[in-house]
Amino acid sequence: MSTSPGDARSLSLLSVVVPCLDEALVIRETHNRLLSALDVSPRIDFEIIYVDDGSRDSTLDILRELQRSDERIKVISLTRNFGQFTALTAGVEHAVGDVVAVIDADLQDPPEVILEMLQLWRQGADIVRGLRSNRSGESRFKIWSSRGFLRILNRMSDTKFISDTGEFGIFDRAAVDAFLEMPETRCLFRGMTSWVGFNQETYPYERMPRSAGQTKYPMRKMIDLAVNTTISFTTFPLRIATWAGSLLLALAFLGIIYTLTVRLLTDAWISGWAIVSVIILTMGSLHLICLGIIGEYLGRTHIEVKRRPLYLVQERLGFIPERGGKQSPGASL
Ligand code: UDP
Ligand code: MG
Repeated sequence: MSTSPGDARSLSLLSVVVPCLDEALVIRETHNRLLSALDVSPRIDFEIIYVDDGSRDSTLDILRELQRSDERIKVISLTRNFGQFTALTAGVEHAVGDVVAVIDADLQDPPEVILEMLQLWRQGADIVRGLRSNRSGESRFKIWSSRGFLRILNRMSDTKFISDTGEFGIFDRAAVDAFLEMPETRCLFRGMTSWVGFNQETYPYERMPRSAGQTKYPMRKMIDLAVNTTISFTTFPLRIATWAGSLLLALAFLGIIYTLTVRLLTDAWISGWAIVSVIILTMGSLHLICLGIIGEYLGRTHIEVKRRPLYLVQERLGFIPERGGKQSPGASL
């Protein structure tokens, strides 16, 4: 959406995308908070798109009920759990607003902040990300591990990740369209929306504890996410093999010279099985680690070349085909 400097942008429709997995305990409260936050004067037109990511509790029933009571509510239900970022992408693909807001379903990110972010959009920001100035709602381990990981990743990758941000934010239509152009099947929303560029800003807010229910990110999923993000945004780990190999070759060369010198110029022998076993073990582990790194990239390529649809939709509620929006992204059953 282009504006000349000084021009305030005007909003015709705001789309809010909310991915939900097993959020029955909180989703009604989230819905009420969203409605009262967006019900402002002067009035803004909005749609709320809830994406049910294969919930096994009553989340989908509640969403259906909410949708029946208000035509601004839309529901997409996926055929199984595809993961938060895929659910988000499904919602964003169905959104028709000129600004798309993305927010979690658990009220950790206050819906009221969306309107404050919109002020920055009106002044020309294309992407406004929530910057968690206070993360009282998250464990110390989560905060420090995520900061440490991003520091390392930012050194390896050309795409810059801002610490203390998540998916919460608003995205101008131009940035959304650029994101949707990207053909990856392994979708990493935050990294991909960083990669697109545009005028990106942050807006500080206080991240609250989860209103109810439990986090869907146990340690295993967090490690998975860290590996996926690394593989997606840098090929640097592949160079580790070359570097480690070169370093070991240099060491081996020094070792050869030393051994020959001792053997030819003195009467001494270099003996001992201990050093040999240490070398074999070091080399063996190094080979396996390098193979593992190559395997991760190969596995990713394998997933990408299959070109399967990113997600499958079981049910869409509240979408009006005549409205001109994208009505059948993903694949339907
Ligand atoms: N979520 C999802 N699919 C998943 C995992 C999570 O749609 O496979 C949703 C979840 O319902 C919530 C948001 O993604 O709205 C963030 O999840 P959560 O609050 O568990 O993550 P955390 O805030 O603990 O990092
Ligand atoms: Mg949460």
